[in-house]
Amino acid sequence: MLNLNQVKVVLVEPSHPGNIGATARAMKNMGLSNLALVSPKRYPNVEATALASGADDVLQAALVCDSVDEALQDCSYIYATTARHRKLGWPSCDVRTAATEICSRELDSSKKIAILFGCERVGLDNDTLTRAQTHIYIPTNPVYSSLNLSQAVQLMTYELKMAHDGLNPVLPVEAREAPLASYDIVEGFYQHLESMLTHIYFLDPKQPKMLMGRLRRLFNRAELCETEVHILRGICKAVLSKTPKD
Ligand code: SAH
Repeated sequence: MLNLNQVKVVLVEPSHPGNIGATARAMKNMGLSNLALVSPKRYPNVEATALASGADDVLQAALVCDSVDEALQDCSYIYATTARHRKLGWPSCDVRTAATEICSRELDSSKKIAILFGCERVGLDNDTLTRAQTHIYIPTNPVYSSLNLSQAVQLMTYELKMAHDGLNPVLPVEAREAPLASYDIVEGFYQHLESMLTHIYFLDPKQPKMLMGRLRRLFNRAELCETEVHILRGICKAVLSKTPKD
């Protein structure tokens, strides 16, 4: 399973230092830390640091290099993001599909997957685009399709996190705080609940309708643990100990 730190975000010739900082922030928010900057116009820069706002560690660790080749050295797969359709057709997919594909790749832990982003003014040139196996587009308004660079990074990394978490559920069933209450324990609660509801005349045993069935469906959905059943039975017991007013 791919670790998100194996995804390398490569900004090619970014011009605005603010976008570099905002990229670091976007990445850290989504759990990525591997950033490469190819010939940044102005870097290091105070604006980059200011916009990184707490993600300075990602900036500090960024690889600054002179060529795309250098940035891609340890990468087994290359993706390139682009808003424009180029003359030369190329395998391409939307950002969500790409994120799922990337997260499903089996990769040696020393290897990385690169995602290239172009400069603000012209994007990636054709030569760089042809280094990628796949082009990624973020679906947009067709007559206004170019996003701000760091926002494109934000959407890409968000989709990567979603795809990654989807493949590695955050709370696997075994990691529940407490195991599910067993059938007989929950059944005991339903009996208790029924007598309590009868006691307060909410349930008429002669005309029960679907009440208990609906309540069972509701509580079954909650996947109760033993402590929760104890609380609920405690409430039933307390109500049963009182005499209804009328
Ligand atoms: N003016 C350039 C766009 C530059 S935006 C052009 O027309 O190509 C800077 C970078 O953000 C792009 O190179 C690309 O990496 C990314 N980007 C912006 N909008 C995007 C979109 N809709 N889909 C995919 N990537 C996008």
